Amino acid sequence: SDSSQAGFSPEQQQYLQGFYAGCEAIRSSNGLPTFAATLGISSGSAPADNCPADARSAHSAAQDQALAAGKKLTPEEQAKRTKDPFQMWDEIAANASAGKFPKGTDIFLYKYHGLFFVAPAQDSFMCRLRFAGGMTNSHQLRGVADLAEQFGGGYVDATTRSNLQIREIKAEHALEIINGLIDLGIVSRGSGADNIRNITATPTAGIDPLELYDVRPLCREMHHYILQHPEMYGLPRKFNIAFDGGGTISALADTNDIGFFAVRVPDGRSQPAGVYFRLELGGITGHGDFARDAGVLLKAEQCIPVAAAILKVFLREGDRTDRKKARLKYVLERFGHAGFLAEVERLLLQPLVKMPVSDCEPRVVPNPLAHFGAHPQRQAGLNYVGVVFPVGRIQVDQLRGLAAIAQRYGSGTIRLTVWQNLLISDIPTANLPAVEEAIRQLGLTTSVTNVRAGLVACTGNAGCRFAASNTKLHAKQVAEYLEQRLELDQPVNIHLTGCHHSCAQHYIGDIGLLATKVSRGEEMVEGYHVFVGGGYGNNREIGRQIATSIPAAEIPPLLERLLLTFLGNRAGDEETFRE
Ligand code: SF4
Repeated sequence: SDSSQAGFSPEQQQYLQGFYAGCEAIRSSNGLPTFAATLGISSGSAPADNCPADARSAHSAAQDQALAAGKKLTPEEQAKRTKDPFQMWDEIAANASAGKFPKGTDIFLYKYHGLFFVAPAQDSFMCRLRFAGGMTNSHQLRGVADLAEQFGGGYVDATTRSNLQIREIKAEHALEIINGLIDLGIVSRGSGADNIRNITATPTAGIDPLELYDVRPLCREMHHYILQHPEMYGLPRKFNIAFDGGGTISALADTNDIGFFAVRVPDGRSQPAGVYFRLELGGITGHGDFARDAGVLLKAEQCIPVAAAILKVFLREGDRTDRKKARLKYVLERFGHAGFLAEVERLLLQPLVKMPVSDCEPRVVPNPLAHFGAHPQRQAGLNYVGVVFPVGRIQVDQLRGLAAIAQRYGSGTIRLTVWQNLLISDIPTANLPAVEEAIRQLGLTTSVTNVRAGLVACTGNAGCRFAASNTKLHAKQVAEYLEQRLELDQPVNIHLTGCHHSCAQHYIGDIGLLATKVSRGEEMVEGYHVFVGGGYGNNREIGRQIATSIPAAEIPPLLERLLLTFLGNRAGDEETFRE
């Protein structure tokens, strides 16, 4: 009835009625609440969008357009056009049994399966996994530890997308890793190359006393939407999506291509009071940009179909001829935010509700220390404990130990964070001392100095061919040096990233270090450009560069001087480094 009032054609109305009826029937048969008919959109594919339903057709349609305009496809687009990465299983199997790594553009296509050949940094594969919203459990982590021990380097890296990576996998073990993960209920499909990366979320979803909305079901639905829609693997470039429930720990939603974050609308606004989601678009901090509020207010059940429609516009309009311009940000610049939203609404056959963000209540200010140590949950008598992964790396015995602790003292639930650490949840208060002791016995800790609390490092040149410096090693050196010489009474985020891809998001750190090679006499040594003043969320700010090409050995004393200058000159104890 609403669709007729909205001026849809009879054909569109007929389509919509059938579409809604089908969706409602499926949801109801699965025991899920039905969508409000007045929303005019539903989970599943967006209607009448003419989007090809498989990755190769989606690629080809967009590539054909570029070719028809006389443009040259990038080598990656050419590779996708020549070979379907998901039809390569037999080839991957044959290479594995012959102990061979991929060559040429096949290296890129392997990443569709989560397999990264990382030579020359390491003559091996790295395998990146997927955990919807960073949620996992004891069983899975025990299994990941076993795989990393048997087929990898005996350790696991935590990433800044609430994810894990197994490294040092020999060519002959590629299939054992992938199949072993599937046995554990973990997928690696689409975790690399031009795909939608791990869906991230507030790690305290469902347990945070301050959160507005438990985003776990939305993450799971988005995760499965991607897995079940082949055209989602036809994107021109990688794509990041995050859900922030508005609680104590930030999901860094504004650093994503799409950020959904929960807000409360008070009484007296154009929409009924309640909890909704804001839509932010176009974040790519490596290119110096945060996602911007799109001026749209969404109900929770609208988030997935709106994300699908955005992805389909991106799929069609993203640049296939220039990798540097292939991200969503550049489509937004070409269309303008309003023009882009009009394309999204056209796919949805429904206008989105517009409301300025200033009409919503401001987000709770995140606590930068809430992902370390013990904190009470919203469930009375239960707590979560944040465990530190030193610069994001953990040995397999430690991982098994954490899995055992979660199972013995908690519910077995483990939550990975975008800060390269993890939370064990659902621990009764009486068990907290035993949990702290068990973590200590593993050689790990739940407390950090204010230097280590916000210390983030990407893989660096010990495992990534793009890196100009050994970021993880230098992060450790920076922490050890500073901890011996000064005491910070507030956390200062230090982010070390190995190249312009900015996996460790140097632009949003209080202090950001971007690796570079520095000339010293006849030699080239590892070093960094130095940025200060970055922030995220309510304090979003792109850091500004204050020093260029500093050798790595000179970084710790430089940061010491910087921090001592801050401590000696701030207006009061409350003034932050960024201020
Ligand atoms: Fe590799 Fe660059 Fe990402 Fe670091 S930022 S992990 S060097 S791609």
